[in-house]
Amino acid sequence: QLHNTILELKGNIRVFCRVRPLLPDDGAGTENAVISYPTSTEALGRGIDLSQSGQKYPFTFDKVFNHEASQQDVFVEISQLVQSALDGYKDLKDRCTGICCSIGKVCIFAYGQTGSGKTYTMMGRPEAPEQKGLIPRSLEQIFQISQSLQSQGWKYKMQASMLEIYNETIRDLLSTNRSSNVEMTRTESGVVGKQYTIKHDANGNTHVSDLTIVDVCSIKEISSLLHQAAQSRSVGKTQMNEQSSRSHFVFTLRISGVNEGTEQQVQGVLNLIDLAGSERLSRSGATGDRLKETQAINKSLSCLSDVIFALAKKEDHVPFRNSKLTYLLQPCLGGDSKTLMFVNLSPDPSSVGESLCSLRFAARVN
Ligand code: ADP
Ligand code: MG
Repeated sequence: QLHNTILELKGNIRVFCRVRPLLPDDGAGTENAVISYPTSTEALGRGIDLSQSGQKYPFTFDKVFNHEASQQDVFVEISQLVQSALDGYKDLKDRCTGICCSIGKVCIFAYGQTGSGKTYTMMGRPEAPEQKGLIPRSLEQIFQISQSLQSQGWKYKMQASMLEIYNETIRDLLSTNRSSNVEMTRTESGVVGKQYTIKHDANGNTHVSDLTIVDVCSIKEISSLLHQAAQSRSVGKTQMNEQSSRSHFVFTLRISGVNEGTEQQVQGVLNLIDLAGSERLSRSGATGDRLKETQAINKSLSCLSDVIFALAKKEDHVPFRNSKLTYLLQPCLGGDSKTLMFVNLSPDPSSVGESLCSLRFAARVN
């Protein structure tokens, strides 16, 4: 009940913060830079304080997970949101057919500097069951529940796509043809590659031309697709200079359900997004391609912040078109959709500057 009240007040946008444990490679503690967050006795809280050089910066979130929060602890707090993509929560009439359908549109983002735990939160370590992240856990829940609803007459069709946005360019992670999965590449023989043009139809469905969309029927199938996407991402990583930390990973599951008894319909979309690292690369004196890349990341993250800020403030103009990511997700960001942003933080004192930036980003959209 309380859950829904918060959702209403915030225009369906919530922000969670997760602080990862200190890792062996992290720097030693310094006294003038400290992040304080809920202690072990209260694994879940709402406030987080950052102190730097005697200055204290307090922040409040919908939830804060400390270093001891397990993947399951985090999943428990989002499982309802995931479920709403399968159940639908808002009835909408199809403009063409006049058929009434319940829709459920959900976006879950992970934001933070590289090394703060975004990929751990979203994907986790798939090889260790208790360390699986939100993506595999969400999919397991969706498949499990959709199967159990079969006995009540529900039939579901699920479709998955996975893409990467790097430098405002889309790359299809499920394309079997790796040489042409990048949008419009320049080669010696001219411009080749796919179009990946983003279009939204009157019913708020998104179509990306040339993008691979795979029908999935089981968790096993989707696990192998996630594996394929990870493989495809790591190929890009060696070819294109550690690109994965500088690209947005977008997993989309489209769910359409129909009840053969009651003729009820459901259309759901679940978007799970591992964002590019938010660190300010510009201070490393980047030039040329690196500078262009840095500017593209900064631009697309600030566009995302602008969009979420405008939505949270219920502004009339929401600048969706200013970046590929926000334009792609437009139908799932505004209006009747539900958005959750994880802000991932490293407890490493040397990261305190970046942590403060991440917290300020979150404070702006929260
Ligand atoms: P990012 O994707 O933001 O760059 P990663 O998810 O790769 O960061 O995390 C960096 C390192 O920290 C990885 O080795 C990861 O396994 C570890 N890590 C992150 N969060 C946690 C956590 N909550 N518990 C244990 N290890 C974590
Ligand atoms: Mg990562």
